[in-house]
Amino acid sequence: MRKKIIAGNWKMNKTTSETVTLINQLKPLVATEDADVVFCVPAISLTTAVEAAKGSNIQIGAENMHFEENGAYTGEIAPGMLDDIGVRYVIIGHSERREYFAETDVTVNKKVLKAFEHGITPIICCGESLTQREQGVTIDFIRQQIKIAFLNVTPEQAKTAVIAYEPIWAIGTGKVATSAQAQEVCKAIRECVAEIYDTDTAAAIRIQYGGSVTADSAAELFSQPDIDGGLVGGASLKPDFGKIVNYK
Ligand code: PEP
Repeated sequence: MRKKIIAGNWKMNKTTSETVTLINQLKPLVATEDADVVFCVPAISLTTAVEAAKGSNIQIGAENMHFEENGAYTGEIAPGMLDDIGVRYVIIGHSERREYFAETDVTVNKKVLKAFEHGITPIICCGESLTQREQGVTIDFIRQQIKIAFLNVTPEQAKTAVIAYEPIWAIGTGKVATSAQAQEVCKAIRECVAEIYDTDTAAAIRIQYGGSVTADSAAELFSQPDIDGGLVGGASLKPDFGKIVNYK
């Protein structure tokens, strides 16, 4: 039985002092044994967030990282730096990073491999555009994203990975996918993982849905057989996130 994982993606929101306030406000609201709860916060607030979350069930994640150990990459954050301060998750290949910062399936794969080297769990994002959905190529496109993201990842590592299926047309738009649409793609992702590895790996890997999840839509989405929780943007910045975590 897979444990649900519900992660907030704060994006470029909240100052460091606001981060402490929000974590303290959300702590009692997200306290549960039933799901892993992750707050992915801006890099500048990671150290403070790790401190603020101590003693709670909240784990802190980064929103991005570089794939090199160190070096001349001005402005970037290395995996070892995240590891050093106690960051245990990292979002990789979010569609906003792919669109605005030229990330590709190949850089996603490099980052995934590095995250595992440092014992950090990657939350690997995939998802189709509206045009791709309308053209009927959603599943083919996502299978390709997954196959490249997992190149040279061992089955043991893959079992611990998190995949976030995030249709681009649903992110920040208020247009949530129907539970049937989300389940269809998450099932196809699990089948793809079974093809790459085996059925044990596919049964272990956790697959989230992301895209305009709210307290109203969470229960139906997260009850689908192949959906193991969510990656939540806008609604993770509000007390409503507590209702999403406790969706049952
Ligand atoms: C996201 O950016 O990962 C996301 C799912 O955003 P939202 O929930 O705001 O659509």
